[in-house]
Parts: sequence; C-alpha cells; structure tokens
Amino acid sequence: MPTILTHPAVPLALAWSRSRGRLSGRLLAAGIAASMLPDLDVIAFRLDVPYAAAFGHRGFSHSLLCAGLVAALAAVFAPALRAGRRESFLFVFLAAASHGVLDAFTNGGLGVAFLWPWSTTRWFAPWRPIEVSPIGLAHFLSPRGLAVLGSEFVWVWLPLLGAAMLARRRRGC
Ligand SMILES: [Zn+2]
Repeated sequence: MPTILTHPAVPLALAWSRSRGRLSGRLLAAGIAASMLPDLDVIAFRLDVPYAAAFGHRGFSHSLLCAGLVAALAAVFAPALRAGRRESFLFVFLAAASHGVLDAFTNGGLGVAFLWPWSTTRWFAPWRPIEVSPIGLAHFLSPRGLAVLGSEFVWVWLPLLGAAMLARRRRGC
C-alpha cells in the first residue's frame, strides 16, 4: 500500500480540481476517510487471517463492491454531508476505489481483489513505480519509510497536483 498519508491525495485533488466552494467540507472529510478505510483490513494480520484470503489485506475491503457500499452509505447520509446524493455517491466511490488503484501500482505485497466476490484474482497494474509502504506507523520515520514517502510524492502527489491544476485551468478557476 502507499502510506495512509497518501491515499487522501485523490479526494483532495478531486476537491481542489473543482470550482472553489462547490464541495462541502463534510463530503471532503467523508472522501478522505473513505480513501483510508480499506487499510483497516490490516487487522487481519493480527487475527491470523492469511494475506491471500478474501478477508486478508487487499481483499474484500479493497474491492469495487466495498467502495460501492461505502459510497451508498454516503448517499444515504448525503443531507448530513451537506451534498446531493449523486454527488456524495460519486465522490466517495471514487475516493474509496482509488485506494485499491494506488495499491495496484505498488511494487510489493499481493495484488488487489478488485472484483471480489465475483473473482478472487489479485490484480496489479502492469507498471508499479510506487514503493510499497511498510505496515505500521512506527516504520514511517525509518530510512525505508522516508524513501516510500519520496516515491509517493513523485508518483502520486505530483501527478495528481498537476492534473488538478490542469482541470482548474480548463475551468478558468
Ligand atoms: Zn490498501
């Protein structure tokens, strides 16, 4: 996985690429939470669930179905998020689904079970430039952790920042 610090880059870039003031802060917070949520599955390691199992790391919680369920929940609570139901669903779905997409670009671990429960195949992108993150916050400040953060800056934050800037420029923001 990219670090937990980098997954919110997608909802932040999506929000920033829009015209100013159009996205509610609550919906943005829900998107940020949804982008990090799939990695709660690391609890599976403590429960001795095998990595490759459906409920192991990068299993069901990283699937498009799970992203859809989280997005449906956001749509139900759209009034509390101060946003429309369609907007809430789409934004939270993109944020949650982006988690697995970023993981698929990392150079370690197992692939992502995007199509669970219809397929247990673990998918990787054909090109994986992002350094896989060590699991656990304690490792972030190690030399390896800093190398991972540098890799994420180059391969995730910079491209998303560039794409968001282009989108804003096209909208004349
Ligand atoms: Zn993950």
